[in-house]
Amino acid sequence: MRARILIVGGGIMGVSTALRCAQRTADPNRDPVVLLEKKHLGAGSSGRSGAILRQHYHDAVVARMARDSLREYAGFEERTGLPLGFHRTGVLTLAGPTQPDWCQRIRENVAMLRDLGIDTELVDATRMRALVPGIQVANEAVGAWEPGGGFVDPNRTLESFAKLARSHGATTRIGVELTGIRVANGRVTGARTSEGDYEAEQVVVVAGPWTRALFRELGLDFPLKVVRPENHYLAVPEMASDGEESPRPRSFSLEELQEPGQAPARAVRGLHPVLIDLEHGFYARCDPAHARTRVGHVDYDDDHELADPDSLVEEVSDELKRWTRATLAKRLPPYARRPDAGSIAAWYTLTPDAQALIGPVPGIAGLFIVTGFSGHGFKLGPSVGEGVAQMLFDEPVTALDPDFFSPTRFKGGESWGGRFGL
Ligand SMILES: Cc1cc2nc3c(=O)[nH]c(=O)nc-3n(C[C@H](O)[C@H](O)[C@H](O)COP(=O)(O)OP(=O)(O)OC[C@H]3O[C@@H](n4cnc5c(N)ncnc54)[C@H](O)[C@@H]3O)c2cc1C
Repeated sequence: MRARILIVGGGIMGVSTALRCAQRTADPNRDPVVLLEKKHLGAGSSGRSGAILRQHYHDAVVARMARDSLREYAGFEERTGLPLGFHRTGVLTLAGPTQPDWCQRIRENVAMLRDLGIDTELVDATRMRALVPGIQVANEAVGAWEPGGGFVDPNRTLESFAKLARSHGATTRIGVELTGIRVANGRVTGARTSEGDYEAEQVVVVAGPWTRALFRELGLDFPLKVVRPENHYLAVPEMASDGEESPRPRSFSLEELQEPGQAPARAVRGLHPVLIDLEHGFYARCDPAHARTRVGHVDYDDDHELADPDSLVEEVSDELKRWTRATLAKRLPPYARRPDAGSIAAWYTLTPDAQALIGPVPGIAGLFIVTGFSGHGFKLGPSVGEGVAQMLFDEPVTALDPDFFSPTRFKGGESWGGRFGL
């Protein structure tokens, strides 16, 4: 078997890269683009992602990618006719009066983001209360509002990107595992897989939490750490008209919120903008398909490190469940009385500076690493796919900054930190 480009991993980065490569390939029979996925699309971090699309970043290079990717996601359904489950609810990032440094950072970020043409505004407590009715914020709180942000359904997005990639001639081999990368004379020559050997001119490893182990077999060790975040869900508050569970949430048009095949009343009930709450340390994102809200921590300092990604324990602690309810209810009190609605454990693949490794692997021509998105990569997927395709096709790389994401930027001894690039 032969591939011009072999992409290893069926998460958002894999399908996006496959799509952008296939779109550049004039003759897929002569220059096959092949994606291998060992389990199913979304079997790694992507399938469990919150897939929140915000542009609020501290680094301009990442904010630009978030901006461009949001444009891509927002127009995708209309352009292609394929569903992503995109919801433009708006995103509110906020800090409290006891956090002068974060308040200042939000102010600086908003000024920088506006210079990049990103639709965002600095908001005070009064404006926050208008945007998220019922929200409890101190008068001195500082927020950044992005009206264009929201989220997609991660698994629908993977399926639709993969479908579009196939329509452009890419092949997706689901249930096929890469078992080794073949190298000769300083150049990648192909791969061993569960369905046999592939010859390949270029190999892109986008294997998320499993990436580090694949490179270790080649004697290469990248500074990657896999940790286990937990998320918990609470049912969304009823709308005021349903009973006394006020406040009435901000109302959205049905086109914005209705899930295909669902009754509108259920789809619009109790939804509110995405909250990224630096004061109470959580993010919250509604899940309209299931009338529930997902909540997670905005840092990963306490997340348990996993030596082996396959050792993930799915059971979520009662402590997390209690913390979720108590913390979200500090902002939106009706959540104190809402039923539990599920939990999820997953993987973040971290780097020391919480930014990804994207680029050629030193010493092995034709081999690329794309991983370490540190819990905030889904929103960047379209830009990453485009940037990696530009690298593979030897074009000027404009969709991302190769120096910023250089896989060789760490010299050892770095401290680990970062809150999703905020
Ligand atoms: C709980 C949670 C919430 C998140 N929320 C957000 C959010 O709100 N917004 C945001 O932007 N980002 C978010 N993220 C981060 C985002 O989801 C990730 O950065 C992104 O999904 C990483 O995608 P990936 O393609 O690099 O890796 P993955 O999705 O992990 O994909 C890797 C794939 O490779 C496959 N694979 C591995 N080894 C092999 C092999 N040997 N052969 C073949 N296939 C192989 C795996 O099965 C897997 O499907 C969240 C992540 C989690 C876990």
